[in-house]
Amino acid sequence: MRTGAAVVVEGDRIAQILPADQAEGIDARRIELTDKVLLPGLVNMHTHAGAGPVGRAVSEDYELPTGMPFYVPLSRLWRHAYRDELREQFRAVIEWDVLGMMRTGTTTILNHASTDIEGYLHIADRVGVRTFAGPTIPLDVTARLGQLSGGREDRKQTTSEEVQLAELEELERMFGEWDGAAGGRITMVLGPAAVHTDEFSVLAGVGVAAKRLDCLVTTHLCQAPSELAATQERFGTTPLRVLQRAELANERLIAAHGTYLPDGDRQLAADSGITIVHCASRKAKEAVISPSVSFQDSGISIALGTDGFNCDMVEELKFAAMLGKIAVAQSHRPTAAEVLDLATSRAASILRRPDLGVIKEGARADLIGVAVTDPSIAPVLDVVQSLVYYGNGRDVQFEMVDGRVLIQDGAFLDVDLDGVRARAEAALTSIWESAIDAGVIAEVLPSINRTRPFA
Ligand SMILES: [Zn+2]
Repeated sequence: MRTGAAVVVEGDRIAQILPADQAEGIDARRIELTDKVLLPGLVNMHTHAGAGPVGRAVSEDYELPTGMPFYVPLSRLWRHAYRDELREQFRAVIEWDVLGMMRTGTTTILNHASTDIEGYLHIADRVGVRTFAGPTIPLDVTARLGQLSGGREDRKQTTSEEVQLAELEELERMFGEWDGAAGGRITMVLGPAAVHTDEFSVLAGVGVAAKRLDCLVTTHLCQAPSELAATQERFGTTPLRVLQRAELANERLIAAHGTYLPDGDRQLAADSGITIVHCASRKAKEAVISPSVSFQDSGISIALGTDGFNCDMVEELKFAAMLGKIAVAQSHRPTAAEVLDLATSRAASILRRPDLGVIKEGARADLIGVAVTDPSIAPVLDVVQSLVYYGNGRDVQFEMVDGRVLIQDGAFLDVDLDGVRARAEAALTSIWESAIDAGVIAEVLPSINRTRPFA
């Protein structure tokens, strides 16, 4: 850590890092970050913006079969939320979620969009966050989650091959419009939902398109035992081997979870260069710790993500460090510095953006300032250990992306937060009320009866 330094930002880049007294003569706007620590902005490598607020604090304590994602009982609730007629209204919920991520230190979001990618891209453009984004293929939430629900035939709907191929074609068209937009803050990615929900022709089509477009690909991989069983039944092999057949098992691939990756596929995961995104707090709700530290020991590339619900990447660092120690029964690893590296410079390298995730001359000015004076965190002898073990995202008081100040003194500068909150509340209330009227919630979660949780 360096003290008494000045970071000189010109345009969207860090131009110089100087001792503070040498910066006094520079003609520039000054932002004093007294009692704050300046860090590179955090990178959330897996989320579905908008999904979390719909179903936060609903099914976390639900009794589930081993390995079932805790939100699967909510699939019908999302189907309500993602209805076409609510599209405009729902954009406030997406924005609310994006602001939650930004407020807690995230400057780059990899959004595997589960609804309305265009709405999301307009929001990212406006609020100033950096994003890598693409919609899930198939987009239909019932088809995606029904496959994981284990046994209920009426939920095992699928999206036809024709529809999935049309979604891929539409996405390729969107690259022309959005890839590199907002001064390079927006990068498009391809996002097949998972091997067991996608037609093989679509996976192979994504493989071809990824090479042609030279883009990254994101997906879900081995997140539940039911996914492995369904893949075995359809393809006679494991999800990663299917991705290999589709020419997707390579450095472009950023795959969420990997929790149930068979041991026999570890070498392939390491040799192929894919990245597995560890979503520690999401999995903890299912009483599961993904083997991320042992994956690293096997030479597999790892990143960190929230997978929605929790939007706070600082909390995610804490979960990754603490649960990582429990998983390997060793108190000295992973260290706070190692998990922070995963969410900054390592993530940047996976995203093929060495200009992100570091504070150095020439890098993009994506920065956060963390307050370190609160009695709950001070004294701060080792900044990184203090942040990871004793801080949380609400300690982030300053945020800048591409040289633009977005948050100062803990408040957004260019966002009407109260207005977004009012619109998000209205949208969510109408979603919850109609879901209750339709019997969706009573059927899966009879204890939920509150529809105005913002009040
Ligand atoms: Zn996910």
